[in-house]
Amino acid sequence: MTKRRLVILGGGFAGLRALFRLSEIDDLEIVLVDPRSTSLMKPALPEVALFGKSVEHVRFAIEPVVRRAGARFVHARPIRVLAPERRIEFPDREDLRYDYLLITTGAMKDYDAIPGYREHGHSPCDDAEAPRLARALDQFDGGPITIGSARSEWGRRVEGPSLAAPCEGPVGEVMFMLDEELRHRHIRDRASIRVFSPGREFFEDVGPTVRAALAPEIERCGIRVTSQKSLRAIGHDHVDFEDGESWESALTIVIPPYTGNPLVVASEALGDEKGFVPTDRRMRHLDFPEIFAAGDGTALAMPKLGHIAVHQADIAAAALERDLTGRGEIPDYAPEIFCIMNRGRHDATLILSNHLFGGDIDRAFSSPITRMLKWGFDTLYFHSRGHLPPDFAQRTLVELLSRA
Ligand SMILES: Cc1cc2nc3c(=O)[nH]c(=O)nc-3n(C[C@H](O)[C@H](O)[C@H](O)COP(=O)(O)OP(=O)(O)OC[C@H]3O[C@@H](n4cnc5c(N)ncnc54)[C@H](O)[C@@H]3O)c2cc1C
Repeated sequence: MTKRRLVILGGGFAGLRALFRLSEIDDLEIVLVDPRSTSLMKPALPEVALFGKSVEHVRFAIEPVVRRAGARFVHARPIRVLAPERRIEFPDREDLRYDYLLITTGAMKDYDAIPGYREHGHSPCDDAEAPRLARALDQFDGGPITIGSARSEWGRRVEGPSLAAPCEGPVGEVMFMLDEELRHRHIRDRASIRVFSPGREFFEDVGPTVRAALAPEIERCGIRVTSQKSLRAIGHDHVDFEDGESWESALTIVIPPYTGNPLVVASEALGDEKGFVPTDRRMRHLDFPEIFAAGDGTALAMPKLGHIAVHQADIAAAALERDLTGRGEIPDYAPEIFCIMNRGRHDATLILSNHLFGGDIDRAFSSPITRMLKWGFDTLYFHSRGHLPPDFAQRTLVELLSRA
């Protein structure tokens, strides 16, 4: 019997999670495609930008991981998916046919949408920009610093929360880590830190309890926060906002707007108006039943977080397994915010909240132990090449925290 073929597009958090979950299925050939040769641990990038962590410790080669899982790696950038024909086109190699497709290509960060970014802006968002920010910080000797997210726009095909800033955790991490770093260098009194958010409130994705827990920490660090500010442009010594205001800024650090993946945009009928993949809550494409998607590139993922990407990958993998074998339970889609925000070398805040989704959990825990948990998570993910702590350990932690 010929094997059915599953193509996974993208070897980030969601793609690798699904690969590990599906690699045991008999009579299934898995091909994972990625234009990068390495999988990037984005949550560790602020440490590259601020604490001198080597970029080589936040990425690992994809091919050996895929091979060990018994699958094939194609290191190439596809140009479009011809969904009605179940075919993927490449500019420089043969088309790849599939029986099932899992899209885990993530979202794009559109640096070029911000006038002046390339000349004057910085960001911790990828493995080229984070080291560039580290170099700028090495040379920084005082002055006003501005940190914030540019506004992102979303399609309307899939219902759910819509956030102007889909991932504000890195803004929080960078501002706290920067405060500590400047104190460490004895130049904190020569610098000011101002933060802006396009959201109605800073950290719009969590509830009032988490925001109230963070507010005194922000104040203690002397950081000023302004919400409902939409970035327009970055200049050599200032930032401009859509409301006409300008702030002086010697160093501007931003999370650029999120946009859909160009592959999805180029593939007819695959994405919504903004290039995000529309799925149901079992992560199946709304129009193509043999296509699934998980992670930042889906319209459903809001906020855009690794924890939600992995949850969606688990659902997509279970739904695929059910299609392929008729076996297995498909977990319910129950998104929550579960992340650890570094607040320096020795402190971190663990946030657990489902307030955005109508739940009543909204907790923040700050301590050196939380900082160690983040270190443990990153170290395990890096050394195990993409594996997370066992599900029961994560679930037990969440259970304990939600009752605390
Ligand atoms: C600075 C920063 C800090 C963060 N911190 C946290 C945190 O502390 N906790 C948390 O939960 N989340 C955090 N996040 C968010 C988290 O990193 C993302 O939600 C997560 O990486 C999404 O996983 P993904 O698999 O959907 O996409 P990605 O991890 O972006 O992976 C997508 C993969 O698809 C590949 N790809 C792209 N285009 C194509 C194509 N055309 N064909 C095939 N493959 C393609 C890419 O090369 C990449 O390997 C952070 C994000 C940033 C930027």
